[in-house]
Amino acid sequence: MNIALTQPTVGTAGRLDGKVALVTGSTSGIGFGIARSFASAGASVVINGFGKPEEIRDTIGTLQNETGAKAIYSAADMTKPDEIAGMVNFVLEAFSRLDILVNNAGIFHVGPVDQVPADKWDAVLAINLSSAFHTTRHALPAMRRQGGGRIINIASALGLVGLPLTSAYAAAKHGIVGLTRVVALETAEQNITCNAICPGNVWTPLAEAHIADQIQTRGLPREEVIRNILLAEQPNKRFAMVEEIGALAAFLASDAAASITGVALPIDGGWTAH
Ligand code: NAD
Repeated sequence: MNIALTQPTVGTAGRLDGKVALVTGSTSGIGFGIARSFASAGASVVINGFGKPEEIRDTIGTLQNETGAKAIYSAADMTKPDEIAGMVNFVLEAFSRLDILVNNAGIFHVGPVDQVPADKWDAVLAINLSSAFHTTRHALPAMRRQGGGRIINIASALGLVGLPLTSAYAAAKHGIVGLTRVVALETAEQNITCNAICPGNVWTPLAEAHIADQIQTRGLPREEVIRNILLAEQPNKRFAMVEEIGALAAFLASDAAASITGVALPIDGGWTAH
């Protein structure tokens, strides 16, 4: 057998023309950065997440005008398995395919493990971990039918190492790295890849709010708050930009990344190199 004949071809590097991408939690921050990066590479995108309806409408309008890509919206709540199933059906009804699934929706909670409210633990695990199980199990049959697909899970540096006061978040993020590896193994012969991206600190509106909060509560100058508190664990002492996460996700979604599967890829300025 000539094995070369059985290999998928690598298309124009980085282009996602004709692909359909669903990005959970993409009304803001990293998820929106990823959706924009996919749309710029030619994919149609499905935006999901919370926000004011008029702001979401404006955001999607801007995305479409900027990129010329088609974008639609699902308001599904990632804590609700039936809404997640409905969202995947909605995508398949709208586009008849689903090529790229990005599990990005996430929330954070800070506090000592014995003071984490049980409902907060449940919410962090539901949104950051269980939602990815539900989207994946509904997306896989469609990906198999169409002959391939890409699953990208947005984990965290805290999916690879621990940090005090982050028990629920780190547990969920370590969990999603495990889910990534198993899904990669189960789909390895089906032209489907599953990888995790593990960002350190990323510059999102949340980071700006966190800085303002710390300046006020600790009475420290802005530069000191950024360097010694927010970026204490990040050796390069800079936030990654959402565009950097978007570019990495677009590469993992492209044909050029066909052999990358089951990895948990840090984009953390050296945090997990310690
Ligand atoms: P963000 O708060 O800006 O965005 C979170 C998105 O998730 C929003 O669109 C929000 O509406 C959506 N969302 C929240 N709860 C939801 C629910 N129940 N159902 C549907 N959507 C919901 O946060 P971000 O910083 O962009 O984080 C995105 C992902 O990246 C998260 O998984 C987060 O853990 C991960 N991450 C972020 C950083 C960082 O520094 N910002 C670092 C590492 C990992």
